[in-house]
Amino acid sequence: MATLMVVSAHAADFVWRAGGAIALYHDKGWQVRVLCLSYGERGESARLWKSGKTLDDIKSIRHAEAEHAAQILGADIRFLDAGDYPLEVTPELRDKLVQEFREHQPDLILTHSLTDPYNADHPRTTQLVLECRILAQAHGYPSPYPPIGAPPVFLYEPHQPEQCQFRIDALLDISSVFERKRQAMECMEAQEHLWAYYTDVAKRRGVQAGRNSGQSIRYAEAYQRVYPSVGGELV
Ligand SMILES: [Zn+2]
Repeated sequence: MATLMVVSAHAADFVWRAGGAIALYHDKGWQVRVLCLSYGERGESARLWKSGKTLDDIKSIRHAEAEHAAQILGADIRFLDAGDYPLEVTPELRDKLVQEFREHQPDLILTHSLTDPYNADHPRTTQLVLECRILAQAHGYPSPYPPIGAPPVFLYEPHQPEQCQFRIDALLDISSVFERKRQAMECMEAQEHLWAYYTDVAKRRGVQAGRNSGQSIRYAEAYQRVYPSVGGELV
């Protein structure tokens, strides 16, 4: 079975930005595994802080929301609870991610954009993912699991793409699974203001996907490639 791995800095990022891809690959019969490095407990839970919740309450609410969203989308989810704002990359966190790649041998990896002037945790996660992919390929890296091949890495769309030097290299048609993405978004009650926003983004990208393919596409997600595509033909 092929495996898609999605690495999310905070508990909800994977839902807004890659929820369609997750549901789509699940429907194709892939195993989909989401890794949440943190719960977004400090930086992306303002509504819960304003309502007087404690740090532990917030982590447990965000855990439950993200677990429910992953279930709707058809993904396994693991929380590494590494802390956020700031997300600190420790040797332990780096090794956990390398061992995840080694154990699960992903065929495709999705993560954040390379830069983001509004959020330090997101590009830090991207740099960590790229480094761990390299380490997981190294034959000498200590691990009970074999080295990985060369899975493509795609970056999902950041919140303000123009400021993040985000370039669209692929538009993924998520029309068939959009209703599930919307349901998953609605699990994230701490960020209700983003439900309509990311529905609008999916519609806009759907129009652009139609314009670039000549097909009728209602909803899409945008991705940027890190490595070139390889094959016997240019398509
Ligand atoms: Zn985030």
